[in-house]
Amino acid sequence: MELTFLGTSAGVPTRRRNVSALALRPRQSSNWLLFDCGEATQHQLLKTPLSLYRLQRIFITHLHGDHVYGLFGLLASRGMLMSEMPLEIYGPTGLQEMLQTVMRLSQLRLPYDLAVREVSAGESLAFGDYRIETIALHHSITCYGYVYTEADLPGRFDLEKARKLGIPEGPLFGRLQRGESITLPDGRRVENRDVLGAPRAGRRVLIGGDNDRPELFAPYRGADLMIHEATYLQKDFDRLPRKFMHTTARQLGIAAEKMAIKRLVATHFSPRYDNEKKMKAIEEEIRENYRGELTLASDLMRIGL
Ligand SMILES: [Zn+2]
Ligand SMILES: [Zn+2]
Repeated sequence: MELTFLGTSAGVPTRRRNVSALALRPRQSSNWLLFDCGEATQHQLLKTPLSLYRLQRIFITHLHGDHVYGLFGLLASRGMLMSEMPLEIYGPTGLQEMLQTVMRLSQLRLPYDLAVREVSAGESLAFGDYRIETIALHHSITCYGYVYTEADLPGRFDLEKARKLGIPEGPLFGRLQRGESITLPDGRRVENRDVLGAPRAGRRVLIGGDNDRPELFAPYRGADLMIHEATYLQKDFDRLPRKFMHTTARQLGIAAEKMAIKRLVATHFSPRYDNEKKMKAIEEEIRENYRGELTLASDLMRIGL
């Protein structure tokens, strides 16, 4: 699978960072998914190989503007491309009303079917090669995290097993590798699964929205990747006269270490940190507690998994 960070700034865009959006292209798929859609997400997409034509599903974490105001323009532009592939949008209660109202008032008609589905916490949505679970996060309005889990892959062809079963090397190997069952010259039947190694576990990615309790992802301990906000340094958060419900770098480091997250990508940084020195301070603060692989997201950064 491949992830592209389209926006990594909190609240407002900066010269180097747009507001929240993340693209995910599933393993062996030319279609792709979008998580959140801050304003100008469609502009960011123009700088990537991703085409709106192939956008299949959108997942919205919450209805704050920096996560959703790009939706309307993006839907309209996808219509201009005359994409007829249906589009599904998942998100919290109110999303349907927000979309319907804007579409009605601006008389937007789309050439494709748009299915809006308002989700609740604890759902598991099955999509064939992957499933997406919703979890309730803790923010000033209803906000969901999405847990993306790939289906397990069948085990690889196990040469040792095949030899032990006395299968002669040659065309019979090829047929088993293609998933067929065969009959040996001595009449024994060998099923494809008899010569496969252990199934390979699908990978799991935790995608947070805005949230001041990263430990809410604890049921998914050991996940391959967690993408989560780290809006403030602890000392700046402590001085804020009004506390917004966001996670600090220190908090994220502690939670990710406790949950044994294999790889952590921090994102959604306050615009006040928009220079390298200050980003370094965020990295160091997460590092005080987290020992896994750590990356600070930047716009248009791509990760293969
Ligand atoms: Zn936000
Ligand atoms: Zn928010």
